[in-house]
Amino acid sequence: MRDRWRAVLNWARSAAKVWPGSVRLLICALGLWITALVAPGPWALLAAPPLVGLGFLCLRRHHHLGVLLIVFACLFSVQTAMLGAGRGTEEVTDVEGIVVGHSQPGASGWSRLTVLTSTGLTEVLSPSTPSDGSHVSMRTEALDDIRISSNEATVLRTPNRLWQWRGDLRMQLRQDSLASGHSGGALLPGLVVGDTEPQDARMEDDMRVVSLTHISAVSGSNVTIVSLGAGLLAGLCGAGPRTRVGLGVLTCMGYVFVVGFEPSAIRAAGMAIAVAFVFLRGGGISPVAVMSSTVCILLTVVPVLATSVGFVLSVVSTAAIMFVVPIILRRLSLRLSMVPAIVLSALIVPLVAQLACTPVLVAIDPRIGLWSVAANALAAPAVLPATVLGFLSLVCGGVGLVGVPGLLWCAQLPAWLGSLCAWWIVAVARICAGLPGAALDWPEPPWGTLAALGLLIVLGAGSWLLVRRRLWGVPVVVLCICLTALIIVVGRTKPPAHDWLVMICDVGQGSATLINLGEGRGLVIDTGKDPKPVDVCLDEGGIEEFDLLISHFDADHSAGYAGTTWSRTLHRLWVSTNVSGGEAMHSIVEDTGAEVVTTARGRTFDAGGAQIEVLWPPARETAGAEENAGAEETAGAAETAKTEGTEVRNDDSLVLRVEQKGLRYLVPGDIGEDEQFIVAQNLEPVDLLIAPHHGSSDLSEDFFTAAGARLGAISVGENSYGHPTPRAQRAFGPVPVLRTDLCGTIAIYANAQYSTGRSCGGDGQ
Ligand SMILES: [Zn+2]
Repeated sequence: MRDRWRAVLNWARSAAKVWPGSVRLLICALGLWITALVAPGPWALLAAPPLVGLGFLCLRRHHHLGVLLIVFACLFSVQTAMLGAGRGTEEVTDVEGIVVGHSQPGASGWSRLTVLTSTGLTEVLSPSTPSDGSHVSMRTEALDDIRISSNEATVLRTPNRLWQWRGDLRMQLRQDSLASGHSGGALLPGLVVGDTEPQDARMEDDMRVVSLTHISAVSGSNVTIVSLGAGLLAGLCGAGPRTRVGLGVLTCMGYVFVVGFEPSAIRAAGMAIAVAFVFLRGGGISPVAVMSSTVCILLTVVPVLATSVGFVLSVVSTAAIMFVVPIILRRLSLRLSMVPAIVLSALIVPLVAQLACTPVLVAIDPRIGLWSVAANALAAPAVLPATVLGFLSLVCGGVGLVGVPGLLWCAQLPAWLGSLCAWWIVAVARICAGLPGAALDWPEPPWGTLAALGLLIVLGAGSWLLVRRRLWGVPVVVLCICLTALIIVVGRTKPPAHDWLVMICDVGQGSATLINLGEGRGLVIDTGKDPKPVDVCLDEGGIEEFDLLISHFDADHSAGYAGTTWSRTLHRLWVSTNVSGGEAMHSIVEDTGAEVVTTARGRTFDAGGAQIEVLWPPARETAGAEENAGAEETAGAAETAKTEGTEVRNDDSLVLRVEQKGLRYLVPGDIGEDEQFIVAQNLEPVDLLIAPHHGSSDLSEDFFTAAGARLGAISVGENSYGHPTPRAQRAFGPVPVLRTDLCGTIAIYANAQYSTGRSCGGDGQ
């Protein structure tokens, strides 16, 4: 044991001797990462002069240490200044500068602007998105380590010619790609210049499920491909190492200008430049030194990167590409001399990068899809041609926009071909995301994380033994695969039997209920907040065409509607008479083309096998008139909506009583105590009651008593309201109460029999 340690120490010492500069830079990079994470205030600048002094004292006897201290002190001062400039003061201040990049607006319409001010780059969360290149002024205050502006930005100067050209160029690429007419056209602008707006929710979700998200926006590998490509091209024309590196770096900077200077793009560019240095310069340079200096520079100039997962992933994958890929390529090219090196690298590089990132990804969220690695390997060969073709189209378009005739037209062909490659990526994502086990039901953290990491270590050890040609590797790897399969099978949610009547979907905090009308037809009541869970639930229930009924337009009941229509047909949209004409309803109708049917208390209808009676709300005469009059007084209407708040909408929830093959049940939306009391006055008993308002304590015991259900269900997820409250659970009386957060999706059969997605003991009380 001792000898081994000594050997390791000797090795480290000899390695340090070979690359003393690299070790210095490595320590420096680690130090800067730590200081960026700790993010001390400006007082920390006081530490710089003593450090420099100490460094000079050391220079004589311990030269390396001295240099390290001096370099670190200098970089640290710049980093602290940048941190201060980025965060600014706690007080409300005006930020004035040029917008050099922005994130795609989120669901709330806010986006994160990168503003170049006189002191450096500042990230501002803003309700409006002025076009890139505008000179803006914003009143901002501090929010964590970035700033937030509550008002819209004031545009002082519109973008100059260069920025306008850039905007036109991006628009040109988007039009050319979308002209291809298939889903690849929507992905290409995201892949090439980070323009993710044309992508729809389903594409984003598929890509996320199979860990391809890094492709849907500009990633480090795209920037690397482009800058390496430019350098290699120069090399083919006989340029020397310096010209090659110079051209690679210049191309990279120009490319990032078109993409936008968001932190993710800066990070990608940094890594690309590092790779370009190592590969284009051709030997004589230590990869460790290049990696470390890149990290040093990035963390000094953009310290916010230190906390970003993307940065960690970039560093890990770039390191893997630099150190592991050359070794594997060398070995493989000896064995498989028939296969061209470029094909081998196109396959190996993304695979190694993905494998290197897996431990980090597992540590964040252990739900890694079974098909992620396969999807990445399948999609990888298309990334290179799609990026190159998209970039070609960009170059043609860029020159064409300046006025060179014919080139705008020429830009269309590579965009069309690139879209075709992108289509392959979308198809791979879609198919892999639809395979069983795509979104694995892995145990929740921390146990899930520990189990996943443990299995990864065992797998790594097994593979290592196999590489060393030890037979022990085989049983270790087999054992690891069996254990993984066991965890998945045990943790898997069980689909309902085919004769289910009602399903209460597990959509997190929210509601979605399915009624089975036979032969793939159904009635969907509410959709939950996110599209994916309700999509999964409809798949489990085998629903192919359906009517949708929205009880009320709160996000936890209606925002996930997009998921219901993925490869399914929506016929009619049922809403309460009191809310028809609302904005939320219009957007659903616009997106889906559904026919609207309104209903109110007292109506009954036969939904093809299920008799449905609407118990609430009574139609309000004034509601329609108010909506119409609101056209002129939108401001007034908005104010009323704000002051009256969500209570009004909850009170207006549709309440349904359904009778289906002898099973009677209530789907009461989010109605509160008063409405429940009124409904309870002439309520016939039912077999199954779903708790109103996710088990809120705003309830009437009379309602639960009048319902007299022999089975209770609560549709609830992680929340900060304390749902479901003990009072609601008690109100059901001594009957089994199933909760979707514990039991997963609940299926109910004739005679109030039930099955649950996860085992939960059956009794929630
Ligand atoms: Zn709700």
